Amino acid sequence: MCEDLITLTPRLANTTVHVPELPPSFDPFSFERRATPEIELPRVVAHGSVPAVRCGGEQTVRVVVTERVFTGVAPKLTPRSDLQPEAIYEELRVHEVDPRSDFTMDEETQLLSVRDGLDLAPLPAFRLLAATLRQRGCRHPILLKDTLHPAELHSPRLTLLHSAAVIGALLADGIGDAILVRSEPDPMAALRLAYNILQAAGCRSFKTDYVACPSCGRTLFNLQTITARIKSRTDHLKGVKIAIMGCIVNGPGRWPMRISATWVGRRAR
Ligand code: SF4
Repeated sequence: MCEDLITLTPRLANTTVHVPELPPSFDPFSFERRATPEIELPRVVAHGSVPAVRCGGEQTVRVVVTERVFTGVAPKLTPRSDLQPEAIYEELRVHEVDPRSDFTMDEETQLLSVRDGLDLAPLPAFRLLAATLRQRGCRHPILLKDTLHPAELHSPRLTLLHSAAVIGALLADGIGDAILVRSEPDPMAALRLAYNILQAAGCRSFKTDYVACPSCGRTLFNLQTITARIKSRTDHLKGVKIAIMGCIVNGPGRWPMRISATWVGRRAR
């Protein structure tokens, strides 16, 4: 995993391309979501009538999929499915720009994004877009993309890490009102990855959230086995966070900081 992250570093940061320096749109020491107006997205009709989805403002971060992904997942979805595409990329009025160049927007523009094919990594490109918009006093909602080169294929693990690192970091900066995952070729896996990134970033909750201790020298039991047992009995508790602690240091003493906690360790000597 660490080796994969090191391998990805050149693709996450622009080391060879000059990027204009602007004050960031976010404060690195405190989280605040970039303020945007609320807009209504075109309805996605997968099964019967569905309410219109709103995006931006105080709304949660939305999941946008390509038409190809929608066609692949639609037959498998029911109205009760936890994973629902909330907008189709090709049906949105997305204005895509090179954030290094001057650009204009018309009244039709719903969302702003970075244009495909640029020689910029998506992470600095979207940070630059948000900084440029801040400088211009523009509050349009932003559609985040995990890649600007969707035809490039990588191993499933690198794809997962890259998409999560790009979109997760931008969401942590407070940037982004909707996300589009295109690196993952399998339609259902792409939809699931989008929701998993939003869950890990604390933006959405569609399944039980587990936080297991990394198991340092204090752990006196098999953390992986115990975690698997706890998961098998609690994975129906959608929206609940469960922390699985390895010792008393971060066990009962940290309970007030968590919605729910499980401590199964013995006191370390
Ligand atoms: S919870 Fe305890 S066992 Fe787990 S990493 Fe933290 S100190 Fe170590």
